[in-house]
Amino acid sequence: ANQRTAGAVPPAARRTGPHEGGPHEGQIKKLLRRMTVEEKLGQLQQLSWNGDTGPGGGQNEEAERAARSGRLGSVLNLYGAAHTNALQRLAVEKSRLGIPLIFGLDVIHGFWTTFPIPLAQAASFDPSMAAKDARVASAEARSNGVHWTFAPMMDVTHEPRWGRIAEGAGEDPHLTERFAAAKVTGHQGRADGSDLAARDRMATCAKHFVAYGGAEGGRDYNTVDVSEARLRNLYLPPFKAAVAAGAATVMASFNTISGVPAHGNAHTLTDVLKREWGFSGFVVSDWAGVQEMIPHGFAADGTDAARLALNAGVDMEMVSTHVRDQGPKLLASGEISRERLDDAVARILRIKFQLGLFDRPYADEDAVLSGPTAAARTAAREVAGRSMVLLKNERHTLPLHRSTSSVAVVGPFGDSTDLLGSWAGPGAKKFPATTVLDGIKKAVPKAKVTHAQGVPPQGGDTGGIPAATAAARAADVTVIVVGEPAALSGEASSRSDIGLPGAQARLIAAIADTGKPFAVVLLAGRPLTSGDWVASAPAVVAAWQPGIEGGNAIADVLFGAVNPGGKLPVSFPRAVGQIPIHYNHENTGRPYDPDNKYTSKYLDLPPGPQFPFGHGLSYTTFEIGAPKLSTDRIGADALRDGATVEVTATVRNTGDRSGDEVVQLYIHDPVASIAQPVRRLRGFHRITLGAGESRTVRFRIGADDVGFWTNDTAGRFIVEKGDIEVYVGGDSTARGRALLRVT
Ligand code: BGC
Repeated sequence: ANQRTAGAVPPAARRTGPHEGGPHEGQIKKLLRRMTVEEKLGQLQQLSWNGDTGPGGGQNEEAERAARSGRLGSVLNLYGAAHTNALQRLAVEKSRLGIPLIFGLDVIHGFWTTFPIPLAQAASFDPSMAAKDARVASAEARSNGVHWTFAPMMDVTHEPRWGRIAEGAGEDPHLTERFAAAKVTGHQGRADGSDLAARDRMATCAKHFVAYGGAEGGRDYNTVDVSEARLRNLYLPPFKAAVAAGAATVMASFNTISGVPAHGNAHTLTDVLKREWGFSGFVVSDWAGVQEMIPHGFAADGTDAARLALNAGVDMEMVSTHVRDQGPKLLASGEISRERLDDAVARILRIKFQLGLFDRPYADEDAVLSGPTAAARTAAREVAGRSMVLLKNERHTLPLHRSTSSVAVVGPFGDSTDLLGSWAGPGAKKFPATTVLDGIKKAVPKAKVTHAQGVPPQGGDTGGIPAATAAARAADVTVIVVGEPAALSGEASSRSDIGLPGAQARLIAAIADTGKPFAVVLLAGRPLTSGDWVASAPAVVAAWQPGIEGGNAIADVLFGAVNPGGKLPVSFPRAVGQIPIHYNHENTGRPYDPDNKYTSKYLDLPPGPQFPFGHGLSYTTFEIGAPKLSTDRIGADALRDGATVEVTATVRNTGDRSGDEVVQLYIHDPVASIAQPVRRLRGFHRITLGAGESRTVRFRIGADDVGFWTNDTAGRFIVEKGDIEVYVGGDSTARGRALLRVT
């Protein structure tokens, strides 16, 4: 495609967001007329509860006082119907206007029933899995007085060292936008907010806005310097999709964006989110994010931080209290306007009305869900099974035979309940995961199943290796369960070395030396570098952190009750020194070429990752035919007006058992006014085919797929003329290709 003939597509200019023009605007105006400045500023404040039973500690006493005096909008980290009702009663029955509080909590992958971590869910390449998690979590959390979850997290990242990679959907904006939208809809229901009052729904929070995943070096909270084009093509799309799906709130991120903290960034919060996209919910700061503009070197003091945050578009302040405290002074001096204050309050009240809090402020203490139901566990097991990725499977090592007479389960996670991952909810304390050992014992009740830890999860102690090799020698087959403890991923949990911690690789080497058959189950909140141990292992399953039913779901896959069909939502690097390494990179002027010394590469590593984005095997095999287009020419104008091209490809199960393939559509624009990534995922279908069965899979390509955002800060999305390469296949290295000419 070529810039001289570019056609610009105006950004979808929506005047009102999905929530606006709703039935509550009259009531909001009426309330605003009655509220004092202090009451308005109070709505903008969120305080944190410390411990779920109170009293004392944290901001509990301040929260009680503020609720009673009508100077508090929200509390986070309090749950339980009786606990939330007690505080709510102060706001509703003691304060002058009786405006209810909104209770928020990080319900990231489950409340009681812990589902696989979000990165795992993304590996299912089936967004309905995220919706399943959301439905269960909403019912559990809402019945316990929680109205609002700080999820979904949708920070696209090319940094596996960053611990928070576990919370999102990986390295691709399209995969992330699909999962973000599914999660929002799963929690909230209809995009106009009209389902939010239901007893089994929660408001969502699209976070972290924006480009948090760009943290330099993968160190949490770090600087991000990003062009407008990359911001719009890579980091913003999931947020746009979440807003279109009706996300009630958005959370600002801890990072700076090209020098301006996200909390003081009028361009992203107001120009893009509120004006261009018409977002009419509210923006919440991250934990003391307003205050952090001071150490960022952007705000002089608390007064300055309050002014910058409110004027940039932050509506509610989490934990720090600068807007509330400095608001009166800033209003008096005119540094913040009454209109802006009223707008922020209206946004918060709008969501409270939609949640039905004015009519039913209390959780029903007779209808509390107090733990995972059988149906919830079944859903968690299904999601975990669908999220597993078969990285490698030589000589049909997997599935294991159900008739096997003995299995040795070794490794630090073989008999561990550390399968829940970071940000596991209140359920983590009460409802531990089933272990792999228990799952295997249940799957093969007649077999002799032994266990030896071998090495600890961290640290260099190898004293247990002889017992583990003895167990392996005595068994038909060995399952080695290795990985990262949950504490090594998530917030503030970046690692400079993302190999297997401690002596785990040595355990694998020792088992390999026995010459007996074995398979490796890898548990982790991120891709790990895999070096030699992957080469020595005949079979490897990436099981991520699979949640409460983890052990059962792993056994389902190991013994073939579930045929794995997940795919990698992130590239697995060979070594840390390659990072960032991701499939959607741009070419250099000297793309890698084995015959040319002066090309882009490392001297000491083969090119490319260990396992590419989109990779994942099955116990059967598939053949995907070359893509066919419904037309090989289409006008840029027609695309702009909404025309699409159909892409079809025929997929055949060439093996001898039923299985799932994720058919992936990638495009590449080889000549563009802004150089484009070598591949961009634009569609995927996870399908199940019986042995020998074929099916034709259909995709549509439109302006969204062919065009891209420019560096224009006003937001310019263009479709250029020229050739577009269209690829369909089973991973991001797909070779099957068709050419589309845009005229
Ligand atoms: C995290 C957010 C989270 C918030 C409240 C912050 O430290 O960055 O993702 O929602 O805490 O717990």
